[in-house]
Amino acid sequence: MRALVLSDIHSNLAALEAVLSDAGEVDQVWCLGDLVGYGPDPNECISRIRELPHICVAGNHDYGVLGKLDLSDFNSHAREACLWNRRQLSADNRQYLDALGETLVTGDFTLVHGSPRMPIWEYILGPEEAEANFGFFDTPYCLVGHTHVPAIFIEGTSSCKAFPLRAGQSLSLGPERLIINPGGVGQPRDGDPGASYMILDTERVVIEHYRVDYPIEETQKRMLKAGLPPQLIARLSIGW
Ligand code: ZN
Repeated sequence: MRALVLSDIHSNLAALEAVLSDAGEVDQVWCLGDLVGYGPDPNECISRIRELPHICVAGNHDYGVLGKLDLSDFNSHAREACLWNRRQLSADNRQYLDALGETLVTGDFTLVHGSPRMPIWEYILGPEEAEANFGFFDTPYCLVGHTHVPAIFIEGTSSCKAFPLRAGQSLSLGPERLIINPGGVGQPRDGDPGASYMILDTERVVIEHYRVDYPIEETQKRMLKAGLPPQLIARLSIGW
């Protein structure tokens, strides 16, 4: 199976469309949560994903928008955007988000938003957090999002190693256990504003990492019109 692995769409339809068209034909979309929050198109993004054969887990912004998390744990801009997203959400899409689970296992892969230990909130930013999490999933590989930074963490006998994933990089997965982050679609945070995603070939067990430019100004115009915080609008241009 050819799976499109993506995370953190964050209501950015222009970025999502760019990824879907760049990825081409896939058998299934694997979504690692945070479909909503921050951006201007919550319903459009959820509906677009729902049209496709897909599996999806919940993220902290999905819970924030639903009111399943206390928004005082969010920074003020994220909170404001969550509340705006909440007001836009259709009853049907609310129901869809509400039904998402926190962890999914498919074949050799565990899917979570944050970490297998704390699926909704924990950030795997470096080898320390990764190392602490290898004991919390049973499959060879775990796919995470949440940091919006593409990276790969390799379990070691004494310590865990971390590597950034580079655009165009292709990697055969071997016997080593891995935690893999495809980066963020709708709000990348590694200094590259291009939408980030991964293609997984489950038969060959190969991942390919890609970045794709999208019309950032289109999303920014819609955010401005919606009255979303200027800081959230500006950060899209610099990929942070
Ligand atoms: Zn996110």
